[in-house]
Formats: sequence, C-alpha cells, structure tokens
Amino acid sequence: MEKINCPICDNSKFTFVLSGSDTLHNIEGNFNVVKCEKCSLMLTNPRPDFYEIKKYYPDDYTPYKLNFNRAEKIAKIRKKYKWFFRIIDPKMTLDLNTNQENANVLEIGCGAGNFLYELKLLHPKWNIMGVDFNVKSIDVLKKYGMNVFASDLINLNIESSSVDIVYGWMIMEHVHEINKTLSEVRRVLKDDGKFCFSIPNAKSWELRFFSKNWFALQLPTHLYHFTENTISKILEKNGLEVEKIIHQKSVTNIFLSLRIIAEKSFLPKIMKKFLSRLLSWNIVCFILTLPIASILAISKQSGRLTIIANKKL
Ligand SMILES: [Zn+2]
Repeated sequence: MEKINCPICDNSKFTFVLSGSDTLHNIEGNFNVVKCEKCSLMLTNPRPDFYEIKKYYPDDYTPYKLNFNRAEKIAKIRKKYKWFFRIIDPKMTLDLNTNQENANVLEIGCGAGNFLYELKLLHPKWNIMGVDFNVKSIDVLKKYGMNVFASDLINLNIESSSVDIVYGWMIMEHVHEINKTLSEVRRVLKDDGKFCFSIPNAKSWELRFFSKNWFALQLPTHLYHFTENTISKILEKNGLEVEKIIHQKSVTNIFLSLRIIAEKSFLPKIMKKFLSRLLSWNIVCFILTLPIASILAISKQSGRLTIIANKKL
C-alpha cells in the first residue's frame, strides 16, 4: 500500500469520507476514501501500489470481455439512427461528429477493444490505436489485426502533436500516475485535438445516498472520485482545459448499486439471484428510465460525466 499527497495541490492533509471494500469481485481489503482539505479532491488513500492493484483486475473483469457482435450491432444502429443517439447519450455521437477522413485516434484503457472495433467499423480509414495494461486482451486484439499495445500511455512514446482524438472511457479514475498521464495526453494531441473521456460523478446524489455501496465507487481500483470541479483543476494543472461537461443520461449506477445492496443482504440465495437478474442492465431498462435519467442529467445529478477537453495553447 502507498500513501500519497494530493495529486492536484500536493497537500497531505485529508478528511475522512468513508471506508469500503471491493464490491465487484469481493477481493479482500478495506479502503478509505478521503478528501483533500485544500482542493476537495476525493481519493482512495492509502491505495494499493501499481503492482498490488493488479489482483483487483481479475480475468473476469467486465471491461476485459470481448463482444464484437454487440459492438457491430451498436455501430450499425449508430450509423442508421444518429439523431436517436444524439438524444439518448451525447458520448455516443462524439466519433460521428468528426468529419475528417483520416484521423489519428487513440483509446487509453481500451480493455477488450469493443469501442475500438466500433470505431473501426464506423471509420474504416481512420488510424486507430489502443493501449491497455491487460496483456491477455491486447494479445487477442492483435490477432484481430488491431493496432494495440500492452503498455501504459507514458511508455508508449507516441510522436508529439500527432493525435486528433484521445478517448478514455471510465479510465482516468484508475490511473496511478495521473499527472504524468494527463500531460502525456496533452503532448500527443494535435493543437486542435480533443480529449474525450468519461468518469463517475462523485458530486451526484448517488454517492451520498448509496455511500460505500455506490457502484461507481469501485474500491480500490478507483483511485480518485472526481467532481466537475476537481477534474477541471487536474486537467488545468496539466495544460488541458474543459470545453464541455456532459451529464450522461444514465441511471445504470443506481440499478447496479441496488444490486450490490441486495447481494450483501440476508435474503435467501434464490431471492438474491432473482433480484440480481431483475437489476441487470438492459435496453428495456434504459428506455423505461430515460425520463428520470434526463431529469437527473438536466439537474446535473447524473452519476456519470463525459468530458471534452482541449489542449491549452
Ligand atoms: Zn488537493
């Protein structure tokens, strides 16, 4: 375990927020979330170091599950119903808003590569790269002819000012060397390049309500618990500036937090199984909950944020 100073302001004084454990795979350990007294960044501290954290990413970790069939279906629907995707989730249309024929794009933390595959189908002429530290996923993607690397961004040595878009879906909260990674994102981006990424929103009511059972808390792999304010500060520190913050129309965290509570409860196994199925996320839930999700997004209380950032020149 390592204890760190605040990555935004280097302060070492924190106030205790909550303590919790791994609710995804029930791997041992208890972890504290603390808040920087100076800049209000919430972080998991102390935290497992870069080597210790690997055991919290087992092979059955969801982002490592390759599902190109689903990716293909999504790509087809995206192409056909652009207008619909613009309504339901702004994140989904980012790749379609770029009209460039030959863009260089990079996804950090590409996992099983499902998003990369969608991009490949939507933009066959783009030069698409991906990076992830999961060697198994990267080896599989290489067999599919994808341009991917088992590394972290810092050690990839991409040419400066060469990338049009860097994507990072639910990844920045996982990165140990966050300042180095963000300044590397800045270095590889072209002057008019975009950094498009998503993060959980620790300022939403969801964290206050579900506390240690909040699905998006994901201790200990979520090292930081950002808000609009703290993500803007850390981007700024590394030469990037927020262009837009989108509150995603999503109540996925709510369903999955309820599932965690059900699983921890004293209910009979059969009931737990039933609730777990009922609370699984699917397209029907998505459509039924869209009105609530929209209200939460408008009132800036969504549990998930998409951020578009520019290089500060
Ligand atoms: Zn701080």
